[in-house]
Amino acid sequence: MLVVKKFGGTSVADKERIFNVANRCIEDYKKGHDVVVVLSAMGKYTDELISMAQDINPRPPKREMDMLFTIGEQMSVALMAMAMNQLGVSAVSLNAFQVTMRTTSAYGNARLKRIDTERIRTELECRKIVIVTGFQGINKYDDYTTLGRGGSDTTAVALAAALRADSCEIYTDVDGVYTADPRLVPSARKLKEITYDEMLDLSTLGAGVLHNRSVEMAKKYGVPLVVRSSLNNRPGTLVKEDAKVERMLVSGVALDRNADRVAIIGLKDEPGIAFKVFDCLAKKNINVDVILQSIGRDGTKDISFTVDDGNIEETVETLEENRGRLSFDRIESETKIAKLSIVGAGMISHPGVAAKMFETLYNENININMISTSEIRVTVLIKDSDADRAINAVHDAFGLAE
Ligand code: ADP
Ligand code: ASP
Ligand code: MG
Repeated sequence: MLVVKKFGGTSVADKERIFNVANRCIEDYKKGHDVVVVLSAMGKYTDELISMAQDINPRPPKREMDMLFTIGEQMSVALMAMAMNQLGVSAVSLNAFQVTMRTTSAYGNARLKRIDTERIRTELECRKIVIVTGFQGINKYDDYTTLGRGGSDTTAVALAAALRADSCEIYTDVDGVYTADPRLVPSARKLKEITYDEMLDLSTLGAGVLHNRSVEMAKKYGVPLVVRSSLNNRPGTLVKEDAKVERMLVSGVALDRNADRVAIIGLKDEPGIAFKVFDCLAKKNINVDVILQSIGRDGTKDISFTVDDGNIEETVETLEENRGRLSFDRIESETKIAKLSIVGAGMISHPGVAAKMFETLYNENININMISTSEIRVTVLIKDSDADRAINAVHDAFGLAE
């Protein structure tokens, strides 16, 4: 049996935690399993690297950021291999170059394309525990890339798929996937199971417990995931194709505080304008979310949308650069906003779910800026200062509380 086990930053934050993880992996190894471990940088080390970079250059080149980021993961895998050796087990650490994990060229937001499994297989055949750096890859220029914040989950799932692993376990600092972030919503309940589709929406909409691309990849390759705590032995949450849970109308609530809103005011009301706006952003690799277009009046219209806060400056700059081609009056941006979403496969067949969410927010006297929906989710944009109150009220209104 081959197992892939991924441990996040808090799980390897200090010496004691590193030995805790080493022991958990050795337990599997001693049962005769092949063990592949994926690690994140220790604690908040990636954030520290960002501060160090910004202290030197407030807008560092993305290539150099990735070069810097890779240190974090490289440090934790080497220390882990040392800990396992100290415990008498043969282990080897490998980075993206050594494994050869190819990605697209987009620095800071690369996608995995191909993973060579040969080196890992060879090491496993020598009965070593193989410890791989999460989050990083290499592109066609042989430069380091990273997969986006939280990307180690995706490394783990991709490795599990490439190695046809029997299980892929994501160990973190909470007991599993909850109906909402348990740090924000004290009454949140742990889910026994959740479908890929629901998890994909939750993670895309702000539930940082799993990197959204890891869920996308798990669904594509049919890799069942277990999310559980590295600090206890509780069973965790299973993420899979069909989850046999009591079908709740809404299975989770997510909050994304990293979204900023951009409004382009006074665009020409003619065919092709939306295409031009989003095409110039796409060319810069800027992901756009909730989009709202006003009804045209006097030959002009407005388009608003949200982007990740790390992209706000580049978004405004790109639009300004294309001012001639797009022709608009002005751009407004707003940063103190939050995106609140409810997700649940049960919504498809139940009208009134959105109305209930709006009513709950109305009762809390919370104003909604923008709305976006799909078959299994409703998203609203609200003021960041209302976010804590809103998520708790909506969570409890749908009967999700413990
Ligand atoms: P790791 O470093 O292990 O990858 P992360 O910080 O990326 O850990 O993810 C775990 C965190 O995700 C938890 O501490 C929790 O605050 C947050 N979180 C957000 N939404 C959820 C949710 N629905 N269920 C569980 N945890 C969530
Ligand atoms: N260390 C990276 C981050 O902090 C990747 C990860 O933790 O998954 O975003
Ligand atoms: Mg994470």
